[in-house]
Amino acid sequence: MSVRKSNPIRMCISCRKREPQQELYRLQKEERILVKYRGFGRSFYLCKECLNSKHVEKKIAGRMKLDITSVENIINLLR
Ligand SMILES: [Zn+2]
Repeated sequence: MSVRKSNPIRMCISCRKREPQQELYRLQKEERILVKYRGFGRSFYLCKECLNSKHVEKKIAGRMKLDITSVENIINLLR
């Protein structure tokens, strides 16, 4: 039990920094395609610093085994 349950801490998939969930972008993997979180299923988080960092697309695509084009599309959309 925690009074801060409404503001959970989550970890960025790229730099592994921990931040309040509301500060992070929530994303989801569908097969090999990166999409924005759809409200169900497994998801992961990306921090604002990583979103704006160079080569983040390659890093995420490699780590999550994602199609690079789908990662680039989502990153460009969020930037
Ligand atoms: Zn990060």
